Amino acid sequence: MNLFDLSGKVAVVTGSTKGIGRAMAEAMAEHGAKVVITSRKADLCEEVANGIKAAGGEAIAVPCNVSHKDQMENLLAVTRETWGQIDILILNAAVNPFYGSALDIPDDAFDKTMDVNIKCNLAFCRNVIPEMQARKDGAIMIVSSIGGLRGSTVLGAYCISKAADMQIVRNLAAEFGKDNIRVNCIAPGLVKTNFARALYEDPEIAKIRADATPMRRLGEPEDLAGIAVYLASKAGSWTTGQVFCIDGGVTTTGEG
Ligand code: NAP
Repeated sequence: MNLFDLSGKVAVVTGSTKGIGRAMAEAMAEHGAKVVITSRKADLCEEVANGIKAAGGEAIAVPCNVSHKDQMENLLAVTRETWGQIDILILNAAVNPFYGSALDIPDDAFDKTMDVNIKCNLAFCRNVIPEMQARKDGAIMIVSSIGGLRGSTVLGAYCISKAADMQIVRNLAAEFGKDNIRVNCIAPGLVKTNFARALYEDPEIAKIRADATPMRRLGEPEDLAGIAVYLASKAGSWTTGQVFCIDGGVTTTGEG
């Protein structure tokens, strides 16, 4: 028996056309899961799903802006119509509309951050948990950030939302562990994606960040794939309510 086998499992990964979500979705497909590729751009969803199919995996493309409830409901309904159920839910899509002092963030940027990064995640969980309870099986992951563990002078609201995600998984793990539903957070350090471009595209800043990282490099999206497969599979069957920092060791030091 392969502890990491996901054959027969259906996985929905929000924001899976790029970056971390895409790497996770592709890894799940490689381990046998049927994956739903979803983000706001339909053409990119198709492209990524087609790439998975060309590599021998199973995937469908369903566009969805996670902040639109009707689109969320459509995404989950189409998944169920196609494959009957949802075994693995990875809530990866998030926003960060403001960079700067806590004194300057406009109300609408604050609200948007809380809406997308917290409320939408809970809405997805509320939709999917009942079917997982009925089957007594399910794995949910929220992609948080090590920013949720630290104070920030420039990403304050984002970090509040990412800390809230850590509490959501503890709450849901506590309530639904009896139903064999595992709920965990994955907290990446600085990963080279479009989302974090401003934080690493200046080579000097990138070098400072890498030097302050015990493993002496920034993350690649693929560095986050293994933890998602672990948590989705039998290997992670007694792991719940936890926050996994996948950060090259940054949070073990006071630097970085
Ligand atoms: P990315 O490469 O920019 O990918 C983000 C993905 O989410 C894309 O597929 C994007 O596609 C989709 N997306 C964005 N807004 C969406 C929305 N409203 N509805 C649906 N899909 C949406 O970013 P990433 O770095 O992989 O970020 C993924 C997660 O990792 C986020 O939760 C982020 O907070 C977290 N994280 C990242 C880092 C880092 O250093 N990169 C560090 C810590 C945590 P469309 O734009 O086409 O919709």
